[in-house]
Amino acid sequence: MTITRFAPSPTGRLHVGNIRTALHNWMLARQAAGTFILRIDDTDAARSREDHVAAIRADLTWLGLDWDREERQSARLARYEAAFDALRAAGRIYPCYESAQELEVKRKIQLSRGLPPIYDRAALKLTDAERAAKQAGGTQPHWRFLLDHAEPITWDDGIRGAQKFDPAQLSDPVIRRADGSWLYMMPSAVDDIDMGVTQVLRGEDHVSNTAVQIQIFTALFAAGFAATEGAAKALPSFAHEALLVGREGKLSKRLGSLGCDSFRARGIEPEAIIALLARLGTSQPVEPIADRAMLTASFDLATFGRAPAKFDEEDLKRLNAGIVHQLPFAAVASRLPEGMDAAGWHAVRPNLAHVGEAADWWKLVTGPIAQPGFSDEDKAFLAEAAQALSWGENPWGSLTAALKEATGRKGRALFLPLRQALTGMDHGPDMGELLPLIGEAEARARLAQAAA
Ligand code: GLU
Repeated sequence: MTITRFAPSPTGRLHVGNIRTALHNWMLARQAAGTFILRIDDTDAARSREDHVAAIRADLTWLGLDWDREERQSARLARYEAAFDALRAAGRIYPCYESAQELEVKRKIQLSRGLPPIYDRAALKLTDAERAAKQAGGTQPHWRFLLDHAEPITWDDGIRGAQKFDPAQLSDPVIRRADGSWLYMMPSAVDDIDMGVTQVLRGEDHVSNTAVQIQIFTALFAAGFAATEGAAKALPSFAHEALLVGREGKLSKRLGSLGCDSFRARGIEPEAIIALLARLGTSQPVEPIADRAMLTASFDLATFGRAPAKFDEEDLKRLNAGIVHQLPFAAVASRLPEGMDAAGWHAVRPNLAHVGEAADWWKLVTGPIAQPGFSDEDKAFLAEAAQALSWGENPWGSLTAALKEATGRKGRALFLPLRQALTGMDHGPDMGELLPLIGEAEARARLAQAAA
């Protein structure tokens, strides 16, 4: 059974980077007929907002990324307390009393000596009396997880391959603040255990967190913490994807704010976003694939590269057009202008960059249209066209065939004046599809008007 999770912090809207993480976890779950969990990481009460939670749900829904289960960290504080107690009893958590300023000074000194800024574990060396004195002085401790330096931390990353970290090169992470609130590191591991998560897929900015969390998982297992039903009994597998960068190849501010509202406002279809993000950064071609089941079936971590994936809004626009050209009437009906039916949609669809443009082309059918001026020669030709118009199966085909025969015109000289007279435009949807929509009387009137 595959269980994946997407764990946004509701401190803002989803952006393209976390949409990608959500999508990939969704695909891993769906391709294995597993479970996809939406986990709201809202332990930071000051920065988490309910309107962001609602927006995250709305965005995922718009993208068609449905979740099987929703969890909130703020509802699970008792579990974190239990994990904390278990780890503390096992000697893996210790209190620290340094202020932020003291820690900053330590870091600066280390850096000035060319040393890595790793926490020096000074708090571990405090005697009971020293701790009591701090406490009596009114300093509440914050808490660190004691990393085990005995062995390297290793895992086989689903994207990055064999990983190896020397725990001595990492700071013991602060897992709990002095006010009792939780930092990300431990609750996430507790949740992954309790929820039986089998695969953790996230951005490579989390690689060193994974090293730490592997020790937290292991310590919790050793403390017998995972004895609940449905809980994981073993480490999940981990994979970290290269981050998204802008077209220029840099981490861009714009990507950090580009989200569903902006896509929707620009007429970008969810399926275009999905088609791009499913394959960007992989060795599989990015194509306008509207068939999500097909994209899901072909999703494969082994195809991911380690270079940053370039997100290009021009690619997205192109893909979007390709997707729009395939959308069935039923998928867009509610967004089309009044009176536009399936035949109308099929006629204009190949000309659209986004669905909103359908309204512009539909005006050519409903009129009124603005015709250009015609030469006397073209006027005579259009007068003849008005005469020749007959309304059968394929009025455009029979009209142009009759005129070709009668006037000897062909190609542009044959088609352009007709298109201009009938639509007011030099280009546009296929006339064979458009003319029946314009209708016989209106077509005749437009040709006559152009000839006058
Ligand atoms: N809330 C964390 C984040 O948004 C979750 C990371 C994770 O997937 O474990 O970065």
